[in-house]
Amino acid sequence: MKIVIDPGHGGKDQGAMFRALREADIVMDIALACFSRLQFLHWTVLTRVSDMYVSLADRVQIANSWKADLFVSIHTNADMDSDEPCMPEGKGEEIWIYPGSPARKVAETIKEHVDGFFPDHPFRGIKESSSLYVLKPENIKMPTLLIETGFIDNLTEHKAFQSQETRRRIGRMLGRGLLDYCGKRYRGKTKPN
Ligand SMILES: [Zn+2]
Repeated sequence: MKIVIDPGHGGKDQGAMFRALREADIVMDIALACFSRLQFLHWTVLTRVSDMYVSLADRVQIANSWKADLFVSIHTNADMDSDEPCMPEGKGEEIWIYPGSPARKVAETIKEHVDGFFPDHPFRGIKESSSLYVLKPENIKMPTLLIETGFIDNLTEHKAFQSQETRRRIGRMLGRGLLDYCGKRYRGKTKPN
């Protein structure tokens, strides 16, 4: 399997920010830990390896020109409304795919691992979007997932994201989930798309 791990944002694009914590930094650590987990068993590349700006077009270009089998973009979510009574604060993980994408098989396989990032918080589901650039089939030629690992502004998740060990744990769990998918595909339980 050729897998592209895409830590969202970077450089001048910091992503979501909450109390001095930047999405770009969180997802970099998660992506590196995920990469470490995969690299000995699968061809794996990162779209960035440091806090640098890479355009969305360049990210998908890396995957397309390499003819990757899978593209996994890593993000943190944000629900910037202040906490109000009867307005529940966003929490938990999400997986985004393009409508009808074969990436749903991957998402179904890894969702239990993803749900484990914040085991006490709900898995918000496998969601479909036809507007996210990295998911659109006209931009990218292989199954693609965009993972919202948690909410940078949820107090519990924010606190967890401050710890590099937590970021690494999340990255390892994601890597484990992807290994699970690759293993199933290899054994023929999930047919290649
Ligand atoms: Zn993001």
